Amino acid sequence: MKGLTILGATGSIGVSTLDVVARHPGSYRAVALTANHNVNDLLQQCLKFRPDYAVMADESSAQQLAEQLQEAAPEIQVLAGMDGLKRVSSLPEIDYVMAAIVGAAGLLPALTAVRAGKRLLLANKESLVMAGSLFMEEAKRHGAEILPIDSEHNAIFQCMPKGYSDDLSAIGVRRILLTASGGPFRLTPVEQLSQVTPEQACAHPNWSMGRKISVDSATMMNKGLEVIEACWLFHTKPDKIKVVLHPQSVVHSMVEYADGSVLAQMGNPDMRTPIAHAMAWPERIESGVASLDLFEVARLDFAAPDFQRFPCLSLAYQAIEQGGSAPAILNAANEVAVAAFLDGQLGFTEIPVVIESTLSAVAVDAGYDLDGILAIDAQARSVALNKVQA
Ligand code: NAD
Ligand code: MG
Repeated sequence: MKGLTILGATGSIGVSTLDVVARHPGSYRAVALTANHNVNDLLQQCLKFRPDYAVMADESSAQQLAEQLQEAAPEIQVLAGMDGLKRVSSLPEIDYVMAAIVGAAGLLPALTAVRAGKRLLLANKESLVMAGSLFMEEAKRHGAEILPIDSEHNAIFQCMPKGYSDDLSAIGVRRILLTASGGPFRLTPVEQLSQVTPEQACAHPNWSMGRKISVDSATMMNKGLEVIEACWLFHTKPDKIKVVLHPQSVVHSMVEYADGSVLAQMGNPDMRTPIAHAMAWPERIESGVASLDLFEVARLDFAAPDFQRFPCLSLAYQAIEQGGSAPAILNAANEVAVAAFLDGQLGFTEIPVVIESTLSAVAVDAGYDLDGILAIDAQARSVALNKVQA
């Protein structure tokens, strides 16, 4: 029996993870569930999954949850805040930690799990973008396994040889082909993009996801963050990663080898596949995902990405090439700009403008530790916020 902590249990990835857990009651148990402020959703999950711990992001939500659980499940310990998140990421009875909090808020609990030597099921790409070097070093030092949940990275992992080393050229990998759907605005006339609404941006053609990542998909910053994520996970440079537009989201990514072979991982666009893969690895378990109907799919299209239409993708390449803390600045500015867009304070095409001007206003540090990353994140947020309000 494997004990799981699900950070961000009430979100899109959290709910899909619990769906897979529920299919295997003899093999996996949700020991801890966490949420931001949504007391009612976490309450319902607690009543169904009976974890030992439930964590809310703030004291008052934690108190409300504890009161509501008093009658039905008084044995569940309710914790609050970052201390609570760190505790459930490092408890001895936890084997696997699903990192599915959205944004920079997910960094510290995920890093705590790595330092405790857990298997980290990593959905929170922002933590690798902010602190990739530190994250990978700490995983090595503490013997933590990092298994990618992001569908593309999970696909790449599946296309790599078992037990592959850090050096991709030593195992004959020529390049990584990272697929991208192109989001809802792939074909929208460019002059209409300044007018698009949060609802249109969040209506992804193939995937159902949280609002922040949905906007990132619409600007293609999501793919930019994924290029950076892939550099760290697969110990490679951005020039070895080629973004390929593939509107059907059936091929989840590919690895090209020195002999010209290209291995692809395919399947229906349903996050329960990478989640079940990472939970069971190196074995396979049922995920609830239907068989891929190739006759219905019928055709697979591929095209080059349009960097003019999607300036966020170029900004992400620039940030990883610049290195040091540049990706952390990019990430912070993006989070601020996306939140402002979702709040109706910023136009869609202003998102890259805010990010670019924040990147040029904040000095990049070459080397950095955790405190340095948190400081640069705070500084970049305040600069970006000023740009939004300007
Ligand atoms: P979501 O918005 O649906 O869920 C986010 C979860 O995090 C919720 O449970 C929320 O309560 C919690 N949370 C949010 N802010 C928090 C805070 N400050 N402190 C503590 N908890 C907080 O998001 P999602 O779509 O499930 O995405 C989660 C992560 O997984 C993101 O990093 C995203 O990029 C990544 N990811 C998601 C998908 C997908 O299909 N949804 C695919 C690949 C990667
Ligand atoms: Mg992805």
